Amino acid sequence: MSFVNLLERLSNACGVTGREEEVRELMKELLKPNVDEVREDKLGNIVGVRRGRKDMPSIMMAAHMDEVGLMVKNITDVGFVQFAKIGGIDDRILVAQKVLIHTEGGPLTGIIGSKPPHILKEEEKKKVIEADELFIDLGASSDKEAREMGVRIGDPISFDIRFTKLREDVVVGKAFDDRVGCAVLAEVMEKLEKVDCTVYAVGTIQEEVGMRGATTAAFGLYPDVGIAVDVTFAGGVPGVKDVEAPIKMRKGPSLVVADRGLIAHPKVLRLLVDAAEELGIPYQLEMGSAGTTDAAKIALTREGIPSGVISIPTRYIHSSVSMLSLYDAENAIKLAITAIKKVPKIF
Ligand SMILES: [Zn+2]
Repeated sequence: MSFVNLLERLSNACGVTGREEEVRELMKELLKPNVDEVREDKLGNIVGVRRGRKDMPSIMMAAHMDEVGLMVKNITDVGFVQFAKIGGIDDRILVAQKVLIHTEGGPLTGIIGSKPPHILKEEEKKKVIEADELFIDLGASSDKEAREMGVRIGDPISFDIRFTKLREDVVVGKAFDDRVGCAVLAEVMEKLEKVDCTVYAVGTIQEEVGMRGATTAAFGLYPDVGIAVDVTFAGGVPGVKDVEAPIKMRKGPSLVVADRGLIAHPKVLRLLVDAAEELGIPYQLEMGSAGTTDAAKIALTREGIPSGVISIPTRYIHSSVSMLSLYDAENAIKLAITAIKKVPKIF
């Protein structure tokens, strides 16, 4: 399967935080042919193991399988679904989205409705409509009817966006945060030849609510080096100053120096920078962005694990749809493979 097809399948799959089953099954299938063992841990992380020599260090590469989304909170008497937000979603993007409610019997399509603009007061028109004023319209006319359709409290809800290729290297789709990381991981394991160090390719759960899967996976594996493969928000769009978002799409993967939860271990940062320079691929150094990644938790495991991050610059993350350049993802794959090979020299 080509990388773009891999990303398409992962992006179209649904894995709202806490309900990662579909993505997990896909990751299992993708990792299996290229690892010695693939296992699911007790919380639901998926771990592909490529065994190396016993006297060599081990490396954990993590990409989170979950995506931001919504969850059914209440069904009104007249059949509208009210929802909770799962992960950091901007209220501004919710109105009029087409969504899928994933019921036990399969997905149901709905749209996020709101009060018609015609009856809004002047000051209401200027305000962002908050999530708790919105509702999902399934076409049901009562609570009973919505339940008969299969809706239950707690059902996950994803945005109904299909993967699209816009031009040679530019693609748009749902949940590139962090399905592109999952795709990179799968591709790295496929392309990786025999290596001396043990490599754990880990698809983690519940990153968007506090990197919970990475916390337990890293504790169990206790690797010598940790690398998260994730996305970072890309600037370079109208209205965004360079100083606010210096990382750009198509300028190469970004290597986190520091973010809100991690100061990259100097040896890991060196490893990644050296790998990029050896390959002659573009890369960007990233400072102090608002978020953090699984690496923040991996780093603080037990006695501590030297950790760093490879990020793919992605526009419009934490909304219903995101955009990235395949060039950046392909360079991230090359960078990760070269870094893995260099681990025994540095650790
Ligand atoms: Zn992420």
